[in-house]
Amino acid sequence: MSSSQLDLAELDLPELEAALEARGVERFHARQLYRWVYRRGVTQFDLMTDLSRPLRARLQDELLVSTPRIISDETSVDGTRKFVLELVDGRRIESVYIPDTPSMTFCISTQVGCAMSCGFCLTGKMGLVRNLTAGEIAGQVRLLAAATGLLDFPFNIVLMGMGEPLHNYEHTMKALRMLHSEHGLAVSPRRVTLSTVGIVPGLERLAREPLMPNLAISLHATTEEQRTALVPPNRKYSLAAILDACRRFPLKNRSRITFEYVMLDGVNDTPEDARRLVKLLAGIKAKVNLIPLNPAPGIPYDRPSDERVDRFAQILADRHITVSVRKSRGRDIRAACGQLIVEGGSKKTAAQQMALLMR
Ligand code: SF4
Repeated sequence: MSSSQLDLAELDLPELEAALEARGVERFHARQLYRWVYRRGVTQFDLMTDLSRPLRARLQDELLVSTPRIISDETSVDGTRKFVLELVDGRRIESVYIPDTPSMTFCISTQVGCAMSCGFCLTGKMGLVRNLTAGEIAGQVRLLAAATGLLDFPFNIVLMGMGEPLHNYEHTMKALRMLHSEHGLAVSPRRVTLSTVGIVPGLERLAREPLMPNLAISLHATTEEQRTALVPPNRKYSLAAILDACRRFPLKNRSRITFEYVMLDGVNDTPEDARRLVKLLAGIKAKVNLIPLNPAPGIPYDRPSDERVDRFAQILADRHITVSVRKSRGRDIRAACGQLIVEGGSKKTAAQQMALLMR
């Protein structure tokens, strides 16, 4: 790789067309390149056989396609696969493939680490190391689709890995545009769910996006005080302000906002919490995803009993709120929600922490 090489992985299709044109190369080759890279998983120009040999040689000199490198690929007994990926600067992230949920789903990261410091999350303990670039975000999907044999099949994407997507807004939205290209993987925004703690200016911006993903709010508490303790950004963007932004959020006909609620034994799992949650969600087209905590060393909370979880869910269901309890996936390989943390020496990877929350 030379410093003068242009990284195709960081370009959306119009940018690639413009970059080729600036080099005197016909714009339509951009679509061919996108098909090779995204649809076929080929990143070596000399294998792109519908390009002329002289053009391939030239592209080889002038372009590159940086792609995260798979460091490990572990499969859980339930089929969940956790990938540790190394980026060009040697940083590591984790991405998770979750089969049959009922569709195939990739849980991908948007940052190395996370600045949000949620009290029940291992990723939050790492702090923010850096934002991922658009190419690194889209690159996780390229890699996982190829590794799981899903390049030609529909799949879902959840932005629930390491990091807060609205804290890395530009790169995240650019990655979604790149993945949406009909000449690439053609991922519909309806198949993408962006999960956020609720950064209100980001939510307002998202509400104006032409390619709008599904929205999931990590709520986790029913009072301001409780939420500030569990999700510190609540100090700046309160529960009330987030729910207001949700009430204004433009939703297509049958879509709803998902509210994620990590259940912590004896902390936020009481019948009073359930009843307060019902009141908070009044006037919002909502569904609630209850996530019994995946306990981990260093996390000062426990998982509630199934009875407590069921009672909480029943209170919501009785008030006509659609509720699901997230099944734990990939626990044996630490690929469950909140378990995504990249381990380097004594440290752990981000993808492990995210997975804890999804079990
Ligand atoms: S739960 Fe999400 S937003 Fe909170 S610290 Fe973990 S990765 Fe960041």
